[in-house]
Amino acid sequence: MKYYILFGPPGAGKGTQATSMVEKYNLHHISTGALLRKEIAAGSELGLKAKSLIEAGALVPDEVVEGMIESEFKTVTGVDGFLLDGFPRTIAQAEALDKILAGNGEKVTSIVSIMIPDEMIIERISHRAAIEGRADDADVSIIKNRIDTYHSQTEPLIEYYTKAGSYNEVDGVGSIEEVRDRIFELVDKF
Ligand code: AMP
Repeated sequence: MKYYILFGPPGAGKGTQATSMVEKYNLHHISTGALLRKEIAAGSELGLKAKSLIEAGALVPDEVVEGMIESEFKTVTGVDGFLLDGFPRTIAQAEALDKILAGNGEKVTSIVSIMIPDEMIIERISHRAAIEGRADDADVSIIKNRIDTYHSQTEPLIEYYTKAGSYNEVDGVGSIEEVRDRIFELVDKF
């Protein structure tokens, strides 16, 4: 099984690029953000707890998302691998993922990091707000908190995966097709 991690700041285009990767490489897409939004829409207890954190631009507790990932790994079959989008977002989550995979005799295949400069994040997310109607996209102060959260809690993963030898970066500036082709060129190697 392949285990790819789509990495990058909010607004880098992870969700958009996931769609083409899933199709080309027969992967199951796991977006922890989308799973959490589903819980919120269903009005579950978990959704209620997650809502205020998401709308503050903060992260939900590690155990919550780790549980979601583990249950997807257990229940999904018939694919050549998994595409993790928005997970891991902290070192603790990365360590938990390594442990879960090691328990199944597996490991992370590669990180595909889509990089865009901070200045572009607000522009991209504000554009998406009009299309997808996400509450956490609609307010510049929430977006700024998400950028801060990314820098303080998620960016250290670059070093974590560089040390593990699985970190790979593509330039996220350009058209959707240009970025997609850069990703395909990279993932074709694995
Ligand atoms: P996303 O759709 O990936 O931008 O995620 C939206 C929001 O869901 C994030 O800003 C976090 O509040 C929460 N979230 C998604 N994935 C995670 C994760 N792996 N760890 C903690 N919080 C997460």
